[in-house]
Amino acid sequence: MTALVGHLINGEMRTDAARTQDVFNPATGEASRQVALAGKATVEEAIASAQAAFPAWRNTPPLKRARIMFRFKELLEQNSDEICRMIGEEHGKIMHDAAGELQRGIENVEYACGAPELLKGEHSKNVGPDIDSWSEFQPLGVVAGITPFNFPAMVPLWMYPMALVCGNCFVLKPSERDPSSVLFIAQLMQEAGLPDGVLNVVNGDKEAVDTLLTDERIKAVSFVGSTPIAEYIYSTASAHGKRCQALGGAKNHAIIMPDADMDNAVNQLLGAAFGSSGERCMALSVAVAVGDQAADALVEKMQAAMQSLKVGAFSDSSNDFGPVITCAHRDKVNGYISSAVEQGAMLVVDGRNPEVAGYSGGFFVGGTLIDHVTPEMISYKEEIFGPVLQIVRVNTMQEAMDLIDAHEYGNGTCIFTRDGEAARYFSDNIQVGMVGINVPLPVPVAYHSFGGWKRSLFGDLHAYGPDAVRFYTKRKTITQRWPSAGVREGAQFAFPS
Ligand code: NAD
Repeated sequence: MTALVGHLINGEMRTDAARTQDVFNPATGEASRQVALAGKATVEEAIASAQAAFPAWRNTPPLKRARIMFRFKELLEQNSDEICRMIGEEHGKIMHDAAGELQRGIENVEYACGAPELLKGEHSKNVGPDIDSWSEFQPLGVVAGITPFNFPAMVPLWMYPMALVCGNCFVLKPSERDPSSVLFIAQLMQEAGLPDGVLNVVNGDKEAVDTLLTDERIKAVSFVGSTPIAEYIYSTASAHGKRCQALGGAKNHAIIMPDADMDNAVNQLLGAAFGSSGERCMALSVAVAVGDQAADALVEKMQAAMQSLKVGAFSDSSNDFGPVITCAHRDKVNGYISSAVEQGAMLVVDGRNPEVAGYSGGFFVGGTLIDHVTPEMISYKEEIFGPVLQIVRVNTMQEAMDLIDAHEYGNGTCIFTRDGEAARYFSDNIQVGMVGINVPLPVPVAYHSFGGWKRSLFGDLHAYGPDAVRFYTKRKTITQRWPSAGVREGAQFAFPS
């Protein structure tokens, strides 16, 4: 019998399901287990258990909440091999890449350990004669997170550690495509000492999500996923009076200036374009070469470097990247490659249908390089989310920047140059939320916040870091005056007149 991945509700593992769905090992193409898809009633039970846990958790001192996070961090480190194996089996990313993902998640737990400091609030003495005023950050209540398949461990850890240390209770709806590591990690949170009901995980699909979006007990929703769904989540959650941050898709460009150290740029681009099969919202999928000389050198060196790329199963650490998530997604990525060729681009390295010994049923796409891509092409306009690097040729840096600014997405971007003034102008003016200068994947560390601009983020506050304190709390400002009642002057024996 295939294992059924279920839910964690009020501290108990459950497998009730309105429906079930296969979970695949994308390297073999076989369904290795099933996931329970929660119906409305199960989600409502999770919300109710979070609601019941809230009063006590809200009043638990931040230091005690933080101590649970310290223990959680240790458990994550002790169980990292097991977690990475689960990620590899269901997502397909290579173990060392999964370890990097987990490390980035742990860094968010470390940031959450600073809760007492983060929640200190603001204080002003004598805002008027004998009047003091302070702002404190109170939890919202029950908040929800909805997460994508591509970082099954890290993205949930962007959300609930901070939400919990701020005093909220949480209902997480992870991706139904790779649910095992999420559930395992949530059990570690329980083991670390979290009271039952404070964190609940419900696996599910649209029915579960819609229940969270419309239930009045949910006060805020954090979402990470594709742009069409992010927009739907934001508009539906907002229409139901909830605070919402919805992070969407991306098309991240790298500008390759004529003075760039080309060997370094090629090296960086290799990892940033093909790592994790390009299934990263910060993947560099477009290289904009300034001048034909830079473009020719880039293509030549990139083509040569790509000869040694190794695609295969997660368990072989000599592989550079693994399969894409599903059979349908492989076909979609291959379709984008074909469409670029049909629309006049030049296919330099074709990664469609690679031979992977022993894994003929896997959902593999090899590293693909396409030159002479233009902004009108479908493969340029849309997010491919596969191991495909496209080269666009322009004549000036301004042309490259105009291209980036005109794109609907604005998640990440970077520039490769040796010129500080050009880099400064670029970072100051480009309409993108996260910018790298000779850094291909400018993912902010846990003590800065993460978020794109334009249609890569709906809402205002970014994910994790300092913005998370603001997102998961509401400000209350208290102003106080204590007129003298004479207590300090000692006992009064005379009858008050
Ligand atoms: P997705 O949008 O398909 O799914 C994300 C979540 O939404 C899942 O939990 C899923 O169950 C749920 N969902 C899907 N369809 C829904 C619907 N119709 N109604 C309600 N809920 C629905 O995204 P994905 O394929 O899992 O992840 C890949 C996408 O996520 C890419 O576009 C990638 O760029 C994006 N992403 C963005 C960031 C970021 O920080 N901006 C980070 C990681 C991934």
